[in-house]
Amino acid sequence: MIIDGKQAAADLRVELAAQVKQLQDEKNITPGLTVVLVGEDPASQVYVRNKVKQTREVGMISNEIKLSAETTEQKLLNVLDELNNDDSVHGILVQLPLPKHINETTVIAKIAPEKDVDGFHAMNSGRLVNGEPGALVPCTPQGCIILAKKALGDNLSGKNAVVIGRSNIVGKPVALLLLQENCTVTIAHSRTQDLGAVCRQADIIIAAVGIAEFVQADWVKPGATVIDVGINRIERDGKAKLVGDVDYANVEPIAGAITPVPGGVGPMTIACLLKNTVEAARNAS
Ligand code: NAD
Repeated sequence: MIIDGKQAAADLRVELAAQVKQLQDEKNITPGLTVVLVGEDPASQVYVRNKVKQTREVGMISNEIKLSAETTEQKLLNVLDELNNDDSVHGILVQLPLPKHINETTVIAKIAPEKDVDGFHAMNSGRLVNGEPGALVPCTPQGCIILAKKALGDNLSGKNAVVIGRSNIVGKPVALLLLQENCTVTIAHSRTQDLGAVCRQADIIIAAVGIAEFVQADWVKPGATVIDVGINRIERDGKAKLVGDVDYANVEPIAGAITPVPGGVGPMTIACLLKNTVEAARNAS
């Protein structure tokens, strides 16, 4: 089975549009998302354009604040202060990476936790660790769980899950979500020994490594569900190509279910960002 992330994201947006309408009808609230972009990184600009478009499509208010690459850290913190105090803004997202002279940790800590729709604030990651309600959970990891459930159904209890990668953005939070789903979770990383043997135990593999076509066919137990988070640009036969962290051509025949790249986890990330914004607006009401 090829897990269709584009379709899953479209389905989620339909659900969210209905929830937005309900918030408008019942509470007179329109969820608002503000994205702050510092500098002119071309990949970030494309990503932000997509966010703005999709936010509007589900009926939410979308604002974009563009600051020059020379913006000081203090100026950015002041902008965040204003957004934190603006009741029409329910979600704030600072597009990463930031220019080198700005400290990402300081900036993330400045965002009001209840508006931190990326889920990177220590308050939200702490709540996720503790399993407390009210956490805004990072978007890509949420997308991974939704896609795994498309293949396996809602009950992931007792499954062996191997997460490859331990970043704060993907690896760690997705491992915590799998634990909440009662999976037996292994987090593998760059120092893991005999990664192939570790992966062969897995009913679910989540690959978040950032190395093109890294996960090999003989690491995958027949029938396993493989969620590929990687986005890697490579050149093949003289053409630029986007590939994941999984050797898709050879793994697909062995896996029970697999996400393609593109069209798998990627589309779910923005859809889950919208989901977090609706949740933040609901919590604020
Ligand atoms: P990262 O560089 O922060 O983390 C990579 C992780 O991989 C590290 O924890 C490291 O320990 C592990 N690793 C590196 N080499 C390894 C090896 N040889 N064996 C085992 N583990 C190894 O990356 P990230 O931010 O977590 O992103 C991972 C990938 O996911 C990237 O390709 C990124 O572009 C992609 N990504 C996609 C989305 C999306 O929306 N689809 C979102 C975020 C990240």
